[in-house]
Amino acid sequence: MSEMHVLLARENGFCFGVKKAVELTEAAAEGGSAVHNLGQVVHNPTISRRLADRGVTVIRDVGEAKDGIVVVRAHGVPPAVRREIEERGLQCVDATCSLVLRAQRFTTQLADEGYTVVILGTPDHPEVVGLRGFAGRDHVVVETEEQWNALPKMKKAGVVAQSTQPPWAFTALVAHVATIAQEMKVFNTVCPVTVKRQVAASDLAEQVRTIVVVGGRNSANTRELANLARMRGRNAHHIESADELHAEWFAGEDTVGLIGGTSTPMDTLLEVKRRIEALGAQPPLGGSTERAAATA
Ligand code: SF4
Repeated sequence: MSEMHVLLARENGFCFGVKKAVELTEAAAEGGSAVHNLGQVVHNPTISRRLADRGVTVIRDVGEAKDGIVVVRAHGVPPAVRREIEERGLQCVDATCSLVLRAQRFTTQLADEGYTVVILGTPDHPEVVGLRGFAGRDHVVVETEEQWNALPKMKKAGVVAQSTQPPWAFTALVAHVATIAQEMKVFNTVCPVTVKRQVAASDLAEQVRTIVVVGGRNSANTRELANLARMRGRNAHHIESADELHAEWFAGEDTVGLIGGTSTPMDTLLEVKRRIEALGAQPPLGGSTERAAATA
């Protein structure tokens, strides 16, 4: 293997929502108070370690914070959690992404106007858990075509989406709800940044056979990028860091595609790029496809 080129997708690096959440957490950590992230601020192991080094702890429940600052991450939280932070006398740094705040406002509006809110998303994803807190008692969450095909007929249906859902799924859900609801109101809350990232992944898939997708395993938008590449018949390898690369993935390739999720920092991506190039410069292992973990 030699002269292997790595083609970076034209959209990469943090989205503005994640960038703000990391910056607000770091700024809070400068102040000397105990800082607690309510859930990982980003699904990225490198950033998580960096924040831990600055003394930031990750809590799953507000009750775990005895004092100091609770940072609400970009995904947002239900109103009850915001209330609990205040009632416990903790300081709140709200890093909810402006696009998620917008989706929360629309969800509130739909519930107030008497619509049954239909949320496209993963029921236990933190952003969806947050949205549900604004959606009133009669809301429903659907993630698959099978699930929305099973929805009952409705008088008034209001549709919103988790920001990282693929646009085609939102369009398909809206088309279906139009056939079962007497009245429908739709707010397109799919995040344009993730849409751009998905388009960039599709474009990359046009140019290469093998794509490396970098981001946390539990990052919804990163998983979606790998899915997209696979749906286009490409070999997609989802990794969190350069240590997970394997030389055999690139056997016979002269160009490899590389893209990161919206919570993957550029320096992690560039490290992966360097390691793929180093693997490409290594002689083949005895001419075989023997597995070789990237240690370059
Ligand atoms: S992916 Fe979009 S909605 Fe989510 S934090 Fe980033 S900019 Fe905000």
